[in-house]
Amino acid sequence: MRLEGKVAIVTGAGQGIGRAIAELFAREGARLVLNDLNRATGEAACELVRKSGAHAALVAGDVSAPKVAKRLVAAAVRHFRRIDILVNNAGIGGSAHGDGPVTESREDSWDKILRVNLKSVFLCCRYAIPEMARSGGGAVINMSSVLALVGCEKHFTSHAYAASKGAMVSLTRAMAAYYAAQGVRVNAVCPGLIETPLAVKAKRQREVMRYVRERQRLIGGLGSAADVAAAALFLASDESRLMTGAILPLDAGWSAGL
Ligand code: NAD
Repeated sequence: MRLEGKVAIVTGAGQGIGRAIAELFAREGARLVLNDLNRATGEAACELVRKSGAHAALVAGDVSAPKVAKRLVAAAVRHFRRIDILVNNAGIGGSAHGDGPVTESREDSWDKILRVNLKSVFLCCRYAIPEMARSGGGAVINMSSVLALVGCEKHFTSHAYAASKGAMVSLTRAMAAYYAAQGVRVNAVCPGLIETPLAVKAKRQREVMRYVRERQRLIGGLGSAADVAAAALFLASDESRLMTGAILPLDAGWSAGL
C-alpha cells in the first residue's frame, strides 16, 4: 500500500495509460478523482477502481477548459479534503488531428494539440498546487513523450505534438525548482510507443512497427500501459521523495540512441 491515505487526480483516465495508472494507484491505497472527456469510459474506469475497494469520483469533460480543470480540483477537495498527487495524463496524438511536419500541418491542429496537451497541464497545476501546498506538499507527474527528447526523420513527424511534449519537459523543470520550497515535487515521464488505443494506427503499419522495434531495441516492440503506471507509482510515492525536476525516459532505449 504505497499510496495509503493519499488523494490522486488522474486526467484522461478513461482508457490506456491513464486507466492503468488509476487502477494501480487504487490497488496501492489511493483515493481517486478521475477525469476523461468521454463520460462513458470515465465512468467505467471509476467502476473498475471501486471494485478494488477504493473511493473514486469522476469529473467528465475537456480538461483544457478552465472550468473543467477548476471543477476537477474542487471535486477532490470536496470529496477528500486534500490533494497529494496530480497526474497530467490527458492528451491527444498528432496525426489523428491534422498534425504533421510544420510545413504540412494545419494551424487549427497546432492550436488544438497545444491546448489539449499543454494548456491542460498549466490549468490543472494552477488549481491543484495551492491545495497540495496547503496539505504539506505533493507530487505532480507529467505525461510527456520520447518525442520531447528526439526528432524523427519519418513516421513520428507530428511537430505540434512534439512541441507540446517538449514544453512539458521545460515546464516540469521550471515548476520543480519553484515549488520545491512548498514541498511539491514535479517530475515527467517520457514513454516510447506504448500499447494503448492511441497506438492502434501505428501498430497496423508494418514499416512503422519495424522502425519502433529498431528504436525500442531493449524489448523489440511496444511497452505496456502497466510499465508506465509502475513508473508513475514510484514518482507518486514517498520512495521518490528526493526526486524533483526529473525527466524519466520509458522508451526501451529509443532516446539513448541505441
Ligand atoms: P489514449 O488515447 O488511449 O487515452 C487518452 C485518454 O485521454 C482518452 O480516454 C481520452 O478520452 C482522454 N482525453 C483526450 N483529450 C482529453 C481532454 N481534452 N480532456 C480530458 N480527457 C481527454 O492515449 P494513451 O496512449 O493512454 O496516452 C495517454 C498519455 O500518454 C497522452 O498524454 C499521450 O500523449 C501520452 N503518451 C502516449 C504514448 C503511447 O504510445 N500510447 C507514448 C508517449 C506518450
